Amino acid sequence: MVNFKDLGLVNTREMFKKAINGGYAIPAFNFNNMEQMQAIIIASANTKSPVILQVSKGARQYANQTLLRYMAEGAVAYAKELGWEHPQIVLHLDHGDSFELCKSCVDMGFSSVMIDGSSLPYEENIALTKKVVDYAHKYDVTVEAELGVLAGVEDDVVAEESHYTKPEEVIDFSQRSGCDSLAISIGTSHGAYKFKPEQCTRDPKTGKLVPPPLAFDVLHEVEKKLPGFPIVLHGSSSVPQEYVDLIDKYGGNLPNAVGIPEEQLREASKSAVCKINIDSDSRLAYTAGVRETLALHPDYFDPRQYGKVARNYMIDLYKHKITDVLGSDNKLAK
Ligand SMILES: [Zn+2]
Repeated sequence: MVNFKDLGLVNTREMFKKAINGGYAIPAFNFNNMEQMQAIIIASANTKSPVILQVSKGARQYANQTLLRYMAEGAVAYAKELGWEHPQIVLHLDHGDSFELCKSCVDMGFSSVMIDGSSLPYEENIALTKKVVDYAHKYDVTVEAELGVLAGVEDDVVAEESHYTKPEEVIDFSQRSGCDSLAISIGTSHGAYKFKPEQCTRDPKTGKLVPPPLAFDVLHEVEKKLPGFPIVLHGSSSVPQEYVDLIDKYGGNLPNAVGIPEEQLREASKSAVCKINIDSDSRLAYTAGVRETLALHPDYFDPRQYGKVARNYMIDLYKHKITDVLGSDNKLAK
């Protein structure tokens, strides 16, 4: 049994409270390897932003849970080396799908876990979430739950259609499950293809796809029912055109990739939304850097040569998200 506090990590409780009161959101960035982790820590340290390092089920399969846990411990030490005196870094399990998985992460030193029972019938979702909460809270680990279904593909999480969260359920759900934060469905979606072209309109000037707006009415209803309660948005990549263009220019093919416009995420950040998940954008920045470097330098075969470019693209992306979209820069507790 390893407690997250011994690793220098923090849970989400205090940072969410401050984020809601301050009208900004904490970035939750997924990581699968060293370059992503370095980029997240460098960007967070440079901008003085609290940050959530997320590990999905797919990341655990790809990189090994034990290794990722030690990397997060290393991340805290690395952050200090970068001059970040009291790092506010959360290690969070993204989309836990069973009690056993959540327990295993709590036991390994994660400071926060998500139990995603959103595909279960309502009562079963409550029961499963409560079971995880009862265990996690013994160790002061915070728990994120989900109500409503997001469309899209994220590792093993696949849903054809989205179902908005029903605001009339959120009070009952949060009280009976005891969760610390709630992921809701208001039209965000997993992956780099968040919407089918027929769901979008076309910008007459650029010809680019414009996605349907987020359901702010649902968000505001939820806020009214649960004043001050931390709300989470998944699937909130914006799919920056510059990276899609670079990927396509250098041999890739991502037709009709479309994300959530950043203005809408900026607006959501000012509400009770206090955690915004971004994964696909980092994948795009990474891939753009690798493709570009290898295309321009066919003689390169040292992973550091393209890894460095990819990492720099991700650092720029994370800083931009923190500073221009979520507003979590300069928000470290004294
Ligand atoms: Zn998600």
